Amino acid sequence: MSAVAVSRLPGDHVGDPGPASVVAAVASIARKDIAPLAAEIDSGNVYPADLLRRLGDAGAWGSHRPNHGAADLRCAIQSIAALGEVCGATAFMAWCQNTLAWYVTNSGNAALTARFADGVSAGKILGGTGLSNPMKTLFGIEKFKLRGRKVDGGYVVRGALPWVSNLGPDHLFGTIFEIEDRPGEIVMFLADCSDPAVTLTPCQPFLAMDGTGTYGVQFRDLFVADDLILAAPAGPFVKKIRAGFILLQAGMAIGLIRDCIAIMHEVAGPLGHVNRYLQEQPINFQDLLTEVESETMQLARDPYNVDDDYWRCVVALRLRAGEASVAAAHAAMLHCGARGYLTSHRAQRRLREAYFVAIVTPATKQLRKMLAEA
Ligand SMILES: Cc1cc2nc3c(=O)[nH]c(=O)nc-3n(C[C@H](O)[C@H](O)[C@H](O)COP(=O)(O)OP(=O)(O)OC[C@H]3O[C@@H](n4cnc5c(N)ncnc54)[C@H](O)[C@@H]3O)c2cc1C
Repeated sequence: MSAVAVSRLPGDHVGDPGPASVVAAVASIARKDIAPLAAEIDSGNVYPADLLRRLGDAGAWGSHRPNHGAADLRCAIQSIAALGEVCGATAFMAWCQNTLAWYVTNSGNAALTARFADGVSAGKILGGTGLSNPMKTLFGIEKFKLRGRKVDGGYVVRGALPWVSNLGPDHLFGTIFEIEDRPGEIVMFLADCSDPAVTLTPCQPFLAMDGTGTYGVQFRDLFVADDLILAAPAGPFVKKIRAGFILLQAGMAIGLIRDCIAIMHEVAGPLGHVNRYLQEQPINFQDLLTEVESETMQLARDPYNVDDDYWRCVVALRLRAGEASVAAAHAAMLHCGARGYLTSHRAQRRLREAYFVAIVTPATKQLRKMLAEA
């Protein structure tokens, strides 16, 4: 584990051990309990619900709760990175859970926050986010897949989302529907997977991320009571939570790049005499990681910033994090040679995981569109 994961977080005050001790506890669980399971999670044999609950006990899902109108994402990102050093799928589930906590704790629906915030932050309630389709729709890439109509005491929602992760029969996730016959009017809500009107269908095997509890989700006239509404209208809420949604993903990239650098160092003994001719060396990725990590930590202190320049920096950082992940994993493969080509070696898993960082919403192509239009 890198020094930043277990010592003070950049910008911590002396005598404030809180966030750093959470990261240290998460890193310890990652090393002792998640690393040995990484291959089983990767192959889809294990969805580590108990470990996600234990991480909640350790404080992994509660550090970014808003406090007097401010929030600090650094501890959450460093915790995701500590998990990502050993398992990209677990880092992604951590992002899902942290994002659910981010929605619940930022909602203006005080009754919803009172009911769910503690349970989600402590990992007693698990779940995620179904915002890929809405995020793509809001940036002009596709159309809303869920539709709702107002009824007494709530809404009735229909439609299907092709992929939502960190789910199970008793899980929750935040997503958005468009109101029927009112194009552009959107509502964000908590979907309860235990409702009989919600069906979870297992997905076909993926390249990676198979142990992440990812399902296709169908809503068959689901009644969503007003007390499950995160925001109506959802537009201003999305603007509030969008930087946090994206910045938390940087944790997946930081953890993965750290391990790719470690892999390159591990093979330097036997293969350094020839690996030194490769164009990309671990030092290049260490410099890139330092830049990406320090910019992430800077932006993560201020997730409610409404400046256009801040938003552009968040989008550009996310693009860089995805591209750096793929480049670092590609370099790790070239440094490893045949050893990394064995399915038992983690280099090939890291490469498959890196592509996920680059394609999960907002994907590389969406980020480039957003920057072109900003
Ligand atoms: C393992 C995994 C986990 C994911 N978890 C989540 C999650 O938790 N929450 C969430 O909101 N999103 C999730 N997604 C979706 C993800 O964030 C991206 O939206 C997705 O990878 C595609 O993004 P894209 O911008 O490249 O879109 P593109 O791939 O360019 O286009 C996506 C659209 O193409 C169509 N499409 C393409 N292939 C298929 C297919 N095989 N089946 C059905 N439709 C298809 C659909 O209309 C879809 O909306 C997950 C995806 C994967 C692969």
